[in-house]
Amino acid sequence: MTETHVLDQLHATFGFSAFRGVQDQVVSRVLDGQSTLAVMPTGAGKSLTYQLPAVMLPGTCVVISPLIALMHDQLRSALANGIRAATLTSVDADREQTIDRFRAGELDLLYVAPERASQGHFRELLSKAPVCLFAIDEAHCVSEWGHDFRPDYRALRPLMDAFPDVPRLALTATADAQTRADVLAQLGIPADGLIVAGFDRPNIRYAIRHRDNPVRQLTTLMAEQPGPGIVYAPTRKKVEELADKLSAATGRPVLPYHAGLPPEVRAANQAAFVASEEMVMVATVAFGMGIDKPDVRFVAHAGIPKSIEGYYQETGRAGRDGDPSVAVMLWGADDFARARMRLEEVDETRRVGERARLDALAALVETGSCRRAVLLRHFGEHPPETCGNCDNCLDAPGIRDVTELARKVLSAVYRTGQSYGFGHIQKVLLGQHDDRVVQRGHDQLSVFGIVSADEAPLLQPLVRALQARGSLLPTEHGGLALGDDARVILKGEVPVMLAIAPKQERARKDRRGG
Ligand code: ADP
Ligand code: ZN
Repeated sequence: MTETHVLDQLHATFGFSAFRGVQDQVVSRVLDGQSTLAVMPTGAGKSLTYQLPAVMLPGTCVVISPLIALMHDQLRSALANGIRAATLTSVDADREQTIDRFRAGELDLLYVAPERASQGHFRELLSKAPVCLFAIDEAHCVSEWGHDFRPDYRALRPLMDAFPDVPRLALTATADAQTRADVLAQLGIPADGLIVAGFDRPNIRYAIRHRDNPVRQLTTLMAEQPGPGIVYAPTRKKVEELADKLSAATGRPVLPYHAGLPPEVRAANQAAFVASEEMVMVATVAFGMGIDKPDVRFVAHAGIPKSIEGYYQETGRAGRDGDPSVAVMLWGADDFARARMRLEEVDETRRVGERARLDALAALVETGSCRRAVLLRHFGEHPPETCGNCDNCLDAPGIRDVTELARKVLSAVYRTGQSYGFGHIQKVLLGQHDDRVVQRGHDQLSVFGIVSADEAPLLQPLVRALQARGSLLPTEHGGLALGDDARVILKGEVPVMLAIAPKQERARKDRRGG
């Protein structure tokens, strides 16, 4: 197959005159019959990399996709491009007909859910139909390292192994180096079959701030961004609450979206959002997959996302049209505290990975340097040190070495018995003869009054940062206890740096007249 032929077909089927990014590399491997793992960010055009070969190769491309809603979206757009496609799911009434068409070689694409792959009669069906390619969408689901492990994906390998001549194309938007290696191994794709696209989304401006008044902070964001936006909130209750408050505070159309709403309400809200040029959707992460709305101007997180992968994927829904867009995360120390508590419930095998993911997220939140650089390095790239389009690049925070102060804080937590909250620890460190402090004899401790008034404003942000990285952990009763890496800080073996928001830094300098 010549290159011109492929480009002609690209134009004939999709109306596009050129490939984007790594699409051509992926497509040419697939047309050559080589198994491939393509890691391409959301919006990079993954579907085309199997749909085009599906049209060009004789036989059917079997696509494994984890969500029925996602499959039906894909089906619609494939049919709109004149591709002979069908889905085979529990909700499809025309299953018999689809099976007949598949066996007769009348389909380019057949979408199935992974649970079907493990069924014996599906394997039998495959042996009686012409299959040209296995495309595995959301391939990170096969890995326990990934953030969305689905046991059904493990059935794919034995199924595909039964058809050794059929090449495999695994696709994912989100995979760190470890997950990538695992996906290759789990799906039987050679290591040289890995193709990774650039992850940079230069038109998205990243900003990460401490959450002190989410309604006010989001209202300000909405005033600055009149276009469509998504606000992710951690729970259904928070979604409802925020949607009400933001709607009241801004007068903008604001709708909620979460899995607890009736399907018809969800569908109606989603449709309204897609059609609107000003609507804000307050949603759980259930919202967004498979939604094609290129003009989303902002994505806000009202609490921390599950991981950097999740953050990248969710913020990636902003600005798919390439126009300037913003991604704002509002975080609180309690978000990290809760996430670390949840880690304890995760089973042993997955905990290491989950913890590493949380630590990586904490590092992104805490960094005083370029957010984009941290993000892209996480995805294995080698970005420049600064991007000029994130909060830290635009308004550089002060970076302070607070190792000594951190040791004082941890030591105060330790000496007071690891059960008091921030307020009490602060009083002890600042030397305040408060009743409770005196009653407990904490004014007799060596840490009493060892922090100067000048350093006092750093205490709260420092404690937050120590909580984010897990050096301080919450106790059941709202106190603070030492976490895993508190020891190395206490011993002075690792430095602690604190990024101080520019506004706060200026206020501090003003007070000192400096
Ligand atoms: P992904 O699955 O990677 O998130 P999609 O496959 O949904 O991305 O594609 C995102 C958008 O980019 C779609 O609207 C698609 O039509 C468009 N697109 C894909 N490839 C090209 C291309 N080569 N030229 C122009 N537009 C493209
Ligand atoms: Zn930057």
